[in-house]
Amino acid sequence: MLEIVHFVLGPVQTNAYLVADSETANAAVIDPAWDGRLILAEAQKRGWRIAHLWYTHAHFDHIGGAGAIADQLNPLPLVALHPNDHVLWRAEGGAPLFGYRIDPGPEPTIDLYQGQILKLGGVEFEVRFTPGHTAGHCIFYVPSSKVCFCGDLIFRESVGRTDLPGGDRDALIHSIQTQVFTLPDDTRLLSGHGPETTVGEEKKYNPFVGEST
Ligand SMILES: [Zn+2]
Ligand SMILES: [Zn+2]
Repeated sequence: MLEIVHFVLGPVQTNAYLVADSETANAAVIDPAWDGRLILAEAQKRGWRIAHLWYTHAHFDHIGGAGAIADQLNPLPLVALHPNDHVLWRAEGGAPLFGYRIDPGPEPTIDLYQGQILKLGGVEFEVRFTPGHTAGHCIFYVPSSKVCFCGDLIFRESVGRTDLPGGDRDALIHSIQTQVFTLPDDTRLLSGHGPETTVGEEKKYNPFVGEST
């Protein structure tokens, strides 16, 4: 069964999610935002083994804790990222533009793609390619738990910014309509910033996206 531990970390209050399969204690971190030591300590307390780091996208505020996590793990965790965000990853996720430096951690070696299935024990995460906020943004949908980790694609009554390099507003709206609004209405959306919401709530109240047409 999927277990989720939620953290709010770093200078722009980014949501990081430590996720695990309770049966096998296999764990991953979705967007190791910042303070990697805190995430690692929580996993150790629970007896979970972090073997993977999965990135919705490569912005610095979503990967800034990767180095600190990887430093304490042997073998190193495997890092998954969409190839369209590799250039951004190599540029420290844009950190210098905002006056920060980060240790981006181990090189991504798993290329995410639309329809890919990532597994933690018996729990399956379906990768959905959702460009718009960045060129390589992806979300992770867990049908068995009716939950979707959606990074900076959509927030409660808001959407990700598209004014940074690689941003594309039309692509972002299209991604939401085709990859989020096609999920069941009671799917929980766990975003990269702010509180959780559901597909149904956003179809009704999100002022930036019309209903899927
Ligand atoms: Zn972002
Ligand atoms: Zn963000």
